[in-house]
Amino acid sequence: MTTTKMKPVDAVVVGSGVVGSIMAMELASKGLKVLCLERGRMIDPQHDFVMPYVNDELKYDRHSDIFQNLSRETISFRNNASQTALPMRELGSFKPGEMVGGTGAHWGCNARRFLPHDFEFRSRITERYGSNFFPEGCTSQDWGVTFDDVEPYYDQFEHIYGVGGKAGNLNGEIQPGGNPHEGPRSREYPNPATRRTPQGELFAKAATELGYTPFQGPAAAMTQDYTNLYKLMLGECQRGGFCSSHVCSQGAKANPLTAVLPALYRKENFELRPLCNVIKVNTDSTGKKATGVTYIDARGREVEQPAEIVVLATYCFNNTRLLLLSGIGTPYDPQTGRGVVGRNYSYQTGGRVHVFFDDREFNPFIGGGMVNTSIDDLNGDVIDRSNLGFVGGAYVAVSSFGATPIKNKPVPAGTPRWGAEWKKAVAQYYRRSFAISIHGSCQSYRHNYLDLDPTYKDANGLPLLRMTFDWHENEKKMLAFMYERITEIAKAMKPSKYAAHHIYKKYTIVPYQSTHNMGGAVMGADPATSVVNKYLQSWDVPNLFVVGGSAFPHNAAQGPTETIGMLACWAADGIKENYLQRPGPLV
Ligand SMILES: Cc1cc2nc3c(=O)[nH]c(=O)nc-3n(C[C@H](O)[C@H](O)[C@H](O)COP(=O)(O)OP(=O)(O)OC[C@H]3O[C@@H](n4cnc5c(N)ncnc54)[C@H](O)[C@@H]3O)c2cc1C
Ligand code: SF4
Repeated sequence: MTTTKMKPVDAVVVGSGVVGSIMAMELASKGLKVLCLERGRMIDPQHDFVMPYVNDELKYDRHSDIFQNLSRETISFRNNASQTALPMRELGSFKPGEMVGGTGAHWGCNARRFLPHDFEFRSRITERYGSNFFPEGCTSQDWGVTFDDVEPYYDQFEHIYGVGGKAGNLNGEIQPGGNPHEGPRSREYPNPATRRTPQGELFAKAATELGYTPFQGPAAAMTQDYTNLYKLMLGECQRGGFCSSHVCSQGAKANPLTAVLPALYRKENFELRPLCNVIKVNTDSTGKKATGVTYIDARGREVEQPAEIVVLATYCFNNTRLLLLSGIGTPYDPQTGRGVVGRNYSYQTGGRVHVFFDDREFNPFIGGGMVNTSIDDLNGDVIDRSNLGFVGGAYVAVSSFGATPIKNKPVPAGTPRWGAEWKKAVAQYYRRSFAISIHGSCQSYRHNYLDLDPTYKDANGLPLLRMTFDWHENEKKMLAFMYERITEIAKAMKPSKYAAHHIYKKYTIVPYQSTHNMGGAVMGADPATSVVNKYLQSWDVPNLFVVGGSAFPHNAAQGPTETIGMLACWAADGIKENYLQRPGPLV
């Protein structure tokens, strides 16, 4: 195939999601000529997502209209190395997006900071319980940055995404009404917290009686009209439901399409090229300098795009896969434990107890925008794990996601799965039930990893990314402990019935769990155990920055996107303030 060579740019950013849009905006604002390559289609939210079609649950949620096209590229999966991995042919456990705006365009707006404990996880657990306390094979490690290092960048992200919440710790002073366990924040949230729902009131009362400290969890659906850091206006959320998996028709959900890209489109030194699937980062003959990227355009032509700086912002999976396909960094070998690319893949644990009432009604149609009442007392350094035998933790929340009637029809345990009795139970409890959910951490382990599949290939003939992953005893013990605690809260609410979901014995790729896939190109202080340094800069190729959840050495409880967005702000600042002055390794 002949390759067309394009005119060089200062920076090429691959991916236009949460990370790519912020990286492009920050670099373009510094005056760099920035090109963003996105393999998904162009989106204009004001035309593509209008009422009432935007609330089509079948199209967007069930049939995954704006998610990755698996017929062109997917991943293969197995639980352990003794199995043969098979390609994922239907979106299940997770649903990466594929369009301008990425997965970020239809996220659920749960926008929480990680705790200081999470960034120094190995040191803090070792200090408190000793190094033998870690489960066997656990490779979770410190991030190479502390919470205090990155706090200003959390603040920056929150002012781009207009996060609404109530501070629980302002400069070290605990504040009433917020999360008392959060790390010290330098100022209040840019927007007020969400209002509490009747479900939230019930949960808060029960949790308080049991000694916990409930608060309104932060959300990036606007709690009032808001003009963000990039001078873009976001309208107040109407709490109409159909939020997660859908793109907001009101312009109230902060995401790349509303909070960043419209400001970027105004810049003459910025270009967005959709339908461009990057297949490789090119390097010079030394292999130590990126010269740009190669992509396949909408007409199937191979194109070379030269650039001085390359930023990979293609979600956990493709950040790792593009490194492997480009031969950058040493691939991880689980047998020896050596190598880094593909190491420390982790996920997110979760669970829920449904409570059913016969004498109370809740309106599930009012919701969305991640209205939630939470507790964080079972997380981070807060719990004493001496006698619990696990590391990690969870936050617990009652969220009102909206009605989503196809997906969401909880019925009490013992209800038949179809027929008249099932219909009766759905009709009875559709408006009289809700879930208390566990959102938990997940450690990294030596035998959970990503590599290239030796058999299966994508539409361009390139190897698929292979995932080898299973749950470990540590996560099951942690979830069992959390289930005991939330069952106590559920009982204190005095429901007619309650039903706990089960803990999966093995990881299965079929039911949706979360699109919170982490690791594969992790950050750290040591090139022997990380792919990128603390500035998300490749140890091997200093003009390559690999940014996103791929950098998480393990996953914390809170949901990743606020930390992913923070890392984009932090990495962009590293380029602007350090790299451009002294191109070369920043560490
Ligand atoms: C339904 C749903 C709800 C969610 N809710 C929450 C939530 O409430 N809270 C939370 O913390 N997180 C949530 N998430 C997760 C959140 O969406 C992700 O953490 C976030 O989008 C990651 O940002 P990113 O920029 O790394 O990736 P993305 O936003 O996915 O952007 C990556 C972009 O790269 C493009 N790309 C990939 N490969 C290539 C290639 N080879 N060439 C060119 N382009 C490429 C993709 O098409 C995509 O546009 C949710 C996810 C889903 C699916
Ligand atoms: S609930 Fe709010 S943020 Fe979500 S889609 Fe509706 S208006 Fe938009």
